[in-house]
Amino acid sequence: MPFPQVVAITPSSPADLAGLTPGDEIRSLNGRVPRDIIEYRLLSDEATVEVEIIRGGLALEVIVEKSAGVPLGAEVSSALFDQIRTCDNHCEFCFIYQLPKKMRRSLYVKDDDYRLSFLYGNFTTLTRFTEIDLERVVTERLSPLYVSIHATDPDIRARMLRNRRGATSLRWLRALLDHKIEVHGQVVVCPGINDGWIFADTLGGVLERFPELASVGVVPLGVSQFSKESSMRAHTVDEANTIIDIVEEFQETFLGCLGRRMVYASDEYYLIANRPFPELKQYDEFAQHENGIGMSRLFEETFEGRSSSTEAVRGGFFASIDGAPAIGYRAPTADLSTSRQAVNISKKASQPGVTLLTGLYGSKVLTPILERAGLSDIEIAIVENRFFGGNISVAGLLTGEDLSRTLAGRDPSRRYLIPDVCLSEGRFLDGMMPEDLPVKVEIIEATGKALARALGHRPKNRTSVERVS
Ligand code: SF4
Repeated sequence: MPFPQVVAITPSSPADLAGLTPGDEIRSLNGRVPRDIIEYRLLSDEATVEVEIIRGGLALEVIVEKSAGVPLGAEVSSALFDQIRTCDNHCEFCFIYQLPKKMRRSLYVKDDDYRLSFLYGNFTTLTRFTEIDLERVVTERLSPLYVSIHATDPDIRARMLRNRRGATSLRWLRALLDHKIEVHGQVVVCPGINDGWIFADTLGGVLERFPELASVGVVPLGVSQFSKESSMRAHTVDEANTIIDIVEEFQETFLGCLGRRMVYASDEYYLIANRPFPELKQYDEFAQHENGIGMSRLFEETFEGRSSSTEAVRGGFFASIDGAPAIGYRAPTADLSTSRQAVNISKKASQPGVTLLTGLYGSKVLTPILERAGLSDIEIAIVENRFFGGNISVAGLLTGEDLSRTLAGRDPSRRYLIPDVCLSEGRFLDGMMPEDLPVKVEIIEATGKALARALGHRPKNRTSVERVS
């Protein structure tokens, strides 16, 4: 098993004072070998931590004395120290099978690991979940978790996962809920497979068998040009409308039965169907904001100053697999000093000559917002996603190659703003970096509030909280 390696030490932290340094390989904490960052945190929470390390080939022991619960202050190189649990499914809609060749190896990892579900919000099908896993989840209260449901009919679920254990693995979901673990569900809808009455049956099954679920997000499948599955295709406008209608009908049913809406359709459905997004209050707690549910409505509300809610930003489609330093359990998307720089520039004045680069869906969200704000002079450059092709239109999957083509020959004196969600640890999915683009770009956090700041836009409707601050 590879051992965690210290990559950074917080100055004046217990680890710093005890003499731990970057490069140290941690062999054990109080005699136990941590399997992952969760155990690492638990073990290092003790008041006295005996850390066995290897430094320059020498075995050493460092004793850290601190108050119980105080973090050690040593950041390690990855989140899982043993093997990532890969999935044994072969879903037709799996995006990993639809990637072009020669991308970073880590992007081809099909994980189905409940620990990554807890750490990063990755969805797990539970087909490899065991009694021992359940015991650990319950004992260590690894909550919330995120579970792929897709269909509650056993045969359809097994067919979708191409795994006969898919027919029975939702029993673990029942067990998790019985132990009061918070679980969020997801249904990826594939036209002709689990849409229409099967989708309605799935939501009925959720109400009947899993009413304690915290939320259920409904998202359309993504189909890239590399898909080899002939039965996988994008939704038609009519199909998207039907999904929204079923979701909204079930929201009323759930409200009546459980006092909450529970199920939400992703923004992408409203964009495909050309329907207005639901009102802010209809998203309740925005439980699946990071999965593209309610993101557009909240973006608009915060840009226009009607809401001061915090907008969580999804750290790139593959951020959890690819990144994973231990900081806050999340890989940073980009060097935000660049975006802070952008904010400082824009504070001076709103300037002409600004171009926002985004995908087709982003442009559909941004265009009316800028028009209402009287900022129609700001150009929106739609970046066609030729890298993935198919129906891939979200900003989070923009690549350096596509951005380069869009920016080629452009006026270097303009400001070019790109959302940080298309970066994972400072790189695009194709491995390029912002510095490789033909003109200088500014990386902006993909939130309404950050964009308003970057454009020097002062919304008329600022909330009282913002006015005071
Ligand atoms: S469970 Fe996820 S990773 Fe595994 S095949 Fe299905 S979509 Fe791909």
